[in-house]
Amino acid sequence: MKNRIFNFSAGPCTLPLSALEKAQKDFVDYQGAGMSIIEMSHRGKHYDKVHFEAIANIRELLSVPEDFDIMFIQGGATLQFAMVPMNFLGAGKVGEYVNTGAWAKKAIADGKKIGETKVIWSGEDKNFTVMPKPLDIKFSADAAFVHMCSNETIGGIECHDFPDTGSVPLIADMSSHIMSRPIDFSKIDMAYGGVQKNLGPAGMAVVIMKKSLVEKANENLPAYLSYKIHASKDSLYNTPSVFVIYIMKLTTDWVKEIGGLKAVENLAISRSGLVYEAIDNSGGWYSCPVDKNSRSRMNVVWRLPSEDLEKKFIAEALDAGFSGLKGHRSVGGCRASMYNAMPLEGAKKLAEFMVRFKQANA
Ligand SMILES: *Cc1c(COP(=O)(O)O)cnc(C)c1O
Repeated sequence: MKNRIFNFSAGPCTLPLSALEKAQKDFVDYQGAGMSIIEMSHRGKHYDKVHFEAIANIRELLSVPEDFDIMFIQGGATLQFAMVPMNFLGAGKVGEYVNTGAWAKKAIADGKKIGETKVIWSGEDKNFTVMPKPLDIKFSADAAFVHMCSNETIGGIECHDFPDTGSVPLIADMSSHIMSRPIDFSKIDMAYGGVQKNLGPAGMAVVIMKKSLVEKANENLPAYLSYKIHASKDSLYNTPSVFVIYIMKLTTDWVKEIGGLKAVENLAISRSGLVYEAIDNSGGWYSCPVDKNSRSRMNVVWRLPSEDLEKKFIAEALDAGFSGLKGHRSVGGCRASMYNAMPLEGAKKLAEFMVRFKQANA
């Protein structure tokens, strides 16, 4: 398909072509139903199959243990910033937060509006270029939960080693790296993520939560904000995001086809490795501000010697067929977001372009 370009956008982002084509092929007349998937009842047999296969794919690919519920909740990861404290931050309780950057801060800001919060670790003095080591996270034994963002999409840092918080629930915003690596459910009690990075279109979050934590959730919330309701109704309390879940099913089918979680993890290591190598081999002309042990496999960030060169780089890259390389407006520089559906070829070509651009401009 010659008009598909390499899309390095941070989210929404590139999705597997085979999933898009399958959706296109089946769109107008879904499997002989005489209507599309978005026109039929979410309580009928066609959608029911999609819904439960999407859940089963996630359970299988991420090896989600039986004592965890998988929920689909609208409102993206952002609504989770509010739902977590609404459900778990009762009177007299403290929510403990790890501040790793822009997304962690948003979670903290919403937590503060609901209840008592405490920041137990902050990367602010290092300009959010480093993830904490597990033992740096000093939580209280009676905390309501410890919350962290395990891949900071804007800062380009990723947690490769989670803390063991014992009986205190560990909650992770994994929006931008969920389904790119295994999740250690012996440490993590709740993993959530907006689905528009590795899984599908925007507008929804996948929430994977230990059943014993669901049981502790606040009962006195409006229905949509209640984890208990979503969990007990298999995310079918109200009309779910049918189209989002449908694409997510096709995307997770594709992950299975190409070899499962190990295959996408290896791809992520290879892709990001190629771009980091181009940075590291440039003699400092390209520079990655991130601590080496905290480098993200999904979002690679780097600077050039001047902002003018960064502008030129981004413009010439676009002409060469690489879109979405501009860093977030809050930090500047360049960023290549390489989620599951980014082919290895995209990273290889980008790395080659970086070498050529340096030769022409250094
Ligand atoms: C994209 C992103 C979000 C926000 O997701 P929405 O679906 O837009 O609410 C939250 N956290 C992280 C780490 C993200 O990358």
